[in-house]
Amino acid sequence: MPFGNTHNQMKMKYSSEQEYPDLSKHNNHMAKVLTPAMYERLRSKETPSGFTLDDVIQTGVDNPGHPFIMTVGCVAGDEETYEVFKDLLDPVIEDRHGGYKPTDKHKTDLNSDNLKGGDDLDPNYVLSSRVRTGRSIRGFSLPPHCSRGERRAVEKLSIEALASLSGDLKGKYYALKNMTEAEQQQLIDDHFLFDKPVSPLLLASGMARDWPDARGIWHNDNKTFLVWVNEEDHLRVISMQKGGNMKEVFTRFCTGLTKIESLFKERSHEFMWNEHLGYVLTCPSNLGTGLRAGVHVKLPNLSKNAKFEEVLKKLRLQKRGTGGVDTAAVGGVFDISNADRLGFSEVELVQMVVDGVKLLVDMEKRLEKGQSIDDLMPAQK
Ligand code: ADP
Ligand code: MG
Repeated sequence: MPFGNTHNQMKMKYSSEQEYPDLSKHNNHMAKVLTPAMYERLRSKETPSGFTLDDVIQTGVDNPGHPFIMTVGCVAGDEETYEVFKDLLDPVIEDRHGGYKPTDKHKTDLNSDNLKGGDDLDPNYVLSSRVRTGRSIRGFSLPPHCSRGERRAVEKLSIEALASLSGDLKGKYYALKNMTEAEQQQLIDDHFLFDKPVSPLLLASGMARDWPDARGIWHNDNKTFLVWVNEEDHLRVISMQKGGNMKEVFTRFCTGLTKIESLFKERSHEFMWNEHLGYVLTCPSNLGTGLRAGVHVKLPNLSKNAKFEEVLKKLRLQKRGTGGVDTAAVGGVFDISNADRLGFSEVELVQMVVDGVKLLVDMEKRLEKGQSIDDLMPAQK
């Protein structure tokens, strides 16, 4: 949260030791990396827009995490956060993204022609397919730190840019504050809209300040292309549809996203990006592609099998419940998506999901018939 200079200066009256957070019960990447010496080194620094070390780590201090679930425990308040606080953030990124080094370079591939197959995931098992990413608009503070005026400017810019989308992508913006409670809930229940800001992670990071001011959803008429405005990131761009045609979903995603980027450029705004981090987003876990390609898939047998977790790990996939992150699976239906974001291109990540989900469905069919899946066990990707 934007305490700015004065607050930071006031805190400098106390020693680093007196200010150091109690992280004794914590299991998150920030707590693992932060040391008293590092805190002392970084605590007087701030980004050009006034984001401080305490702002970066607050969400991880307030949310110790779970012994088995490692959260990230820190956020960025602006593009420069990753540079100014890199002593802390580089190791967090390395830990979270499978050893990604400060010297590594990220690759982008948004050409869906490079995806092999993916148009034929069995719709008897794959109920829906979705690809999402985040984008940040350079020059504006990110949601944990932006002012109301900045947030409204991001919303205004987005509405203007998105209004120029045409054809299948033509759509409309719906501001949260103009929606009834019932309309909002319907969109959430139908899996189109972000949840209300109930997550303590979201609240503690400062992202939910002024809710619902300047938040909203833009979507085309048949809700296959959607943009969330000012949730966790300035923009979340989503392509989705029923069934198992991930190729079509990814193609629409790439076309739409590329158009959106050029519409912002025409208005002299570019997305935050650099060679090392790829697309710069609020949560360090989303850096790189920001891409999560996933399916809702019926796996009632495989999910009960002792090998399920191991198979997912080997395929570099993660599971969630169908109500989104932190929800449980209902009736054996899971949200299965790529576990990585950084160090792989968009095409590579979607390819992992397509190939992996195909195998999961094959395994499910075997188990349905009471047959063994031993010969289908994949190698570590
Ligand atoms: P995100 O990675 O976009 O933040 P969340 O886990 O927070 O994803 O879920 C956001 C919403 O998107 C939820 O309502 C969830 O059910 C929906 N969703 C995610 N994946 C799919 C999918 N493959 N098909 C349909 N809805 C999905
Ligand atoms: Mg989410």
